[in-house]
Amino acid sequence: NKIIVAIDGFSSCGKSTIAKQLAVRLGYAYIDSGAMYRAITLYFLRNGVNYNNHDEVVAALNDIHITFVFNEDSKTSDIYLNDEDVSLPIRDMLVADKVSQVAAIKEVRHFAVAQQKRLGRKKGIVMDGRDIGSVVFPDAELKVFMVADPAVRVMRRFKEMHATNPHITIDEVRHNLELRDYIDSTREESPLHQAKDALLLDNSSMTREEQLDKVIGWVKERSMA
Ligand code: C5P
Repeated sequence: NKIIVAIDGFSSCGKSTIAKQLAVRLGYAYIDSGAMYRAITLYFLRNGVNYNNHDEVVAALNDIHITFVFNEDSKTSDIYLNDEDVSLPIRDMLVADKVSQVAAIKEVRHFAVAQQKRLGRKKGIVMDGRDIGSVVFPDAELKVFMVADPAVRVMRRFKEMHATNPHITIDEVRHNLELRDYIDSTREESPLHQAKDALLLDNSSMTREEQLDKVIGWVKERSMA
């Protein structure tokens, strides 16, 4: 039986890496919910939307259309914002700096969560984010909460960002992660936390293969239940 796998955790814990590989192994769809908040943030930045102004936010959301399109080469989905592939620009530090503020806005969350719920109508999906097990799919058959040592997370994200932006510094990356952790876990609307029935995966000293084996084991158990 195909199930829904919800993977949550702090920034740069390796959620998307595992979620992507898991989806490929299982033949499931993978949806990166954070990419949606990033695409919305990109739109706000490009169009000078004042996100403290409720009416401006609502008007902007009405003009935003987000789609995921599977890419055969990368075996994962590209994200489109109003028909433009924004998979690369949403990874920019300018977006990372603002995304948690944008994701804390109630209307933005309602907009994103509604679309995420629709994507989950068909079972056989792996979705990662901050509130997937707690809000988007409270009935998911498998919920995983990933954690990792902060120093490990900073180095992972630094390496990833350095590949496309050689000017980035470790301090900038650390500062951005700390800021997002803080905003994500203290915001009023669905703050990041481990759902009661989520299984904890601390991957600070685990290889990707070990993490994948562990989660696949859990998926097998849950798909037979
Ligand atoms: O997963 P990623 O780090 O790309 O997500 C970017 C930001 O989007 C997070 O720092 C968080 O503020 C927000 N987010 C969220 N809820 C989700 C996924 C991401 O609030 N389900």
